[in-house]
Amino acid sequence: MISRRRILNGALFMTLIGIRAVRGATALAAKPGAPRKPLDEQDPTAEALGYRQDARKVDPKEFPTYRSGQACSTCALIEIGTARLRGCSLFPGKLVSAGGWCSGWQQRAIKP
Ligand code: SF4
Repeated sequence: MISRRRILNGALFMTLIGIRAVRGATALAAKPGAPRKPLDEQDPTAEALGYRQDARKVDPKEFPTYRSGQACSTCALIEIGTARLRGCSLFPGKLVSAGGWCSGWQQRAIKP
C-alpha cells in the first residue's frame, strides 16, 4: 500500500522538477557559462529532496527509496564525466557531489 506521505513526496518532487525545469531554462538562457557553485545541503530544494553530499549519510527511514550503492555518479540526471563535482539537471547552476544522493535519483541507463 502506498502511504499518503509517499504520494505527497511524489507530488512535491514532480512540482519541484517542473519549477526547476522552468527556472533552469531561464537561468541557462540568461547566463550562459556562468560559474556554478557546489550545492548546499541547506538549499531549500536540496532539503526537500533530501540531498546529501555523502550518500552514506542518507537516513533510509526518512527516505525509504534509497538503496545502498545509489549515488549521484550512477544517476541519469548528473552530467557525464568523472569529476567529483558535476552539474545535475535538478539543480541548475549548482554542482552536486558524485558521491551524493537525493530522492530524485534515477538509474542511469548507460555507464558514464
Ligand atoms: Fe544526485 Fe541524481 Fe539527485 Fe541530481 S537527481 S542530486 S544527480 S541523485
